[in-house]
Amino acid sequence: MPPKKNQLSTKTKEKAKKKTVEDKTFGLKNKNKSAKVNRYVKQVEQQVQTAGNKQKLKEAENRKKEIQSKREAAAKKEAQLAELFKPVVIQQKVPFGVNPKTVLCANFKQGTCIKGDKCKFSHDQKSDRKSGKIDLYTDPRDAKGEAPPPPSTTPALGADGQPSLKGVCKHFVEAVTNGQYGWFWQCPEGGDKCKYRHALPEGRWQ
Ligand SMILES: [Zn+2]
Ligand SMILES: [Zn+2]
Repeated sequence: MPPKKNQLSTKTKEKAKKKTVEDKTFGLKNKNKSAKVNRYVKQVEQQVQTAGNKQKLKEAENRKKEIQSKREAAAKKEAQLAELFKPVVIQQKVPFGVNPKTVLCANFKQGTCIKGDKCKFSHDQKSDRKSGKIDLYTDPRDAKGEAPPPPSTTPALGADGQPSLKGVCKHFVEAVTNGQYGWFWQCPEGGDKCKYRHALPEGRWQ
């Protein structure tokens, strides 16, 4: 919008025009009503009118330009926003030997996977194991019935006053102690075939 002071009302403009004509033809109108004078008065009137129209035309032109540049700026801004919110496709990596179908699709998680059924990653929220903390008191093999059975009786307290680690894999305990135990931890002693439990006894803290 142009500054307010430039927006003279039509009334004010007309008044200004009238005043210009009066100034330029001061005294002529009423003195000599000769044809020559009348012609001159008319001429001045016309000149002022034309000048006013030119001004109006210029204003309209400026307004048009302003609207156009505003439109262009808006279109540019929209394009920038679209670019900004364009979904970023995540290139997901899978650790060696892990079935991608057991890994939650990172793009699906953020709602931008377009592959649907053809996606090699899982679209099941439950498979998001990385975000869930692994349970230290459950051997992951328990679910498949492949873990060595837990002790049938509550383990006796050891010298440290905690339930003993009898029958618990020492590699597992080491990994837990070092903070290396997680969903992708593999027992160096035969992996899933390890004959010791990969779980802490109930009631024991690390
Ligand atoms: Zn996917
Ligand atoms: Zn083990």
